[in-house]
Amino acid sequence: MHLKSLTLKGFKSFATATTLKLEPGVTCVVGPNGSGKSNVVDAIAWVLGEQGAKALRGGKMDDVIFAGTSGRAPLGRAEVTLTIDNSDGALPIDYTEVSITRRLFRTGDGEYEINGDRCRLLDIQELLSDSGIGREMHVIVGQGQLDQVLHAKPEDRRGFIEEAAGVLKHRKRKEKALRK
Ligand code: ATP
Ligand code: MG
Repeated sequence: MHLKSLTLKGFKSFATATTLKLEPGVTCVVGPNGSGKSNVVDAIAWVLGEQGAKALRGGKMDDVIFAGTSGRAPLGRAEVTLTIDNSDGALPIDYTEVSITRRLFRTGDGEYEINGDRCRLLDIQELLSDSGIGREMHVIVGQGQLDQVLHAKPEDRRGFIEEAAGVLKHRKRKEKALRK
């Protein structure tokens, strides 16, 4: 399984529809300060269901919609599609290619799609839950976050490792069961 492409339309600084093709292996995005590199990473977090404006480096959710520039009017919606190669069947769905789309309108309405069919965020989370991509996973290491891990207290650092190893969810379940 690998990420195949990412399309941004009206997301943050990407007013014009832009598609990034991703190959297996490492992809580097280079560019001057403020050119939109981190916005690309925000788009991946957002399409996977990120609900926190702060995690997306904004103040409110609709800050992800292109806000306009001196020469260009603001847009009414943001849309991101992430296409994942599933030829190894890592995702439990009968498609060799899976596209996840998220859309947000200035009215506050939002939509999610899997391969063009409307779905709930929960469906996306379930689809990705055992794949290592998705919510509550340290899939995205933001600017400055590495420092945070290096300077963390030992017990917090253990939490990071447990989460990466996929044991945290089991420990949380166990704690919950013991409380009952
Ligand atoms: P650095 O190298 O400093 O980390 P970067 O390439 O990561 O820079 P980003 O943070 O991705 O840059 O992009 C910042 C730019 O995106 C700013 O110019 C900001 O004005 C623009 N931007 C963010 N949100 C929006 C929005 N909603 N509408 C229009 N432009 C936006
Ligand atoms: Mg950046």
